[in-house]
Amino acid sequence: MTFRLASVSGRATLVDGDALHDLEGCSGGAFGPDPMAAVAGHVRLHEIAAGLAGREPTGALAGAALDAPVPRPTNVFAIGLNYRSHAAEAGMAHDTTPDVPLVFTKFPSCISAPDTDVALESDTVDHEVELVVAIGTGGKDIAEGDAWDHVAGVTIGQDISDRALQFAATPPHFDLAKSRDTYGPIGPVLVSTDAFDDPDDLTLTCDVDGERRQHASTRDMIFPVPALIAYLSSILTLSPGDLIFTGTPAGVGMATGRYLVPGAVITSTIDGVGTITNRCT
Ligand code: ZN
Repeated sequence: MTFRLASVSGRATLVDGDALHDLEGCSGGAFGPDPMAAVAGHVRLHEIAAGLAGREPTGALAGAALDAPVPRPTNVFAIGLNYRSHAAEAGMAHDTTPDVPLVFTKFPSCISAPDTDVALESDTVDHEVELVVAIGTGGKDIAEGDAWDHVAGVTIGQDISDRALQFAATPPHFDLAKSRDTYGPIGPVLVSTDAFDDPDDLTLTCDVDGERRQHASTRDMIFPVPALIAYLSSILTLSPGDLIFTGTPAGVGMATGRYLVPGAVITSTIDGVGTITNRCT
């Protein structure tokens, strides 16, 4: 049984259609309110989700105040140039597949609510829609074939990037440029991977003011999710709740010169996960 996990006013909540079920109640107290404990206990969420039918909901999804479904990750990894289309538009295409993924960090303090406003701090702030995976079962030296079993679920992320800040240093400091406050909205929910026919083939899109800017499948990744988990866990121990922003496809403003402007509305989707909407201020 699949589950959809949200954080509603800071409380772990299972989502069943439009119905919300506070996890502490529907788990009979097995879980408390902390969404991070729910992510770490992802294996048990499947059976709890299977028992929701007929339960009285504790709220409705429409109009609910959603927070980041994984609010306090220990580590937030991000992958640069992980789609050939984006590597090409960035002028950094490789003739051959690189040996290892390009990894940087988004500092965890940037993680924010799915529909948070994004404060533009320069006139070269950019959108990057990404599949975000949340580790549920940690580990070291995870084999590619086991990698998806270590994932609690997937969600949508915006790797908001201040290009002026990114290229203010040489080599560029990706980390700071992508870690301003509110520059890591994720959500709306964390969806267990058994919800998908093929979790390595998810369609993602990004619209700005209703105009399609990015559209791709995660099957176009240079390093698919299992390869990323195997690589990262060969170096350090992954922990429950760690997030991986898996890279963005072509269509970012850096390539077209069309950066975000105040009032712009960024709409990001992944089929089977949902939509997040971010207004620029
Ligand atoms: Zn990115």
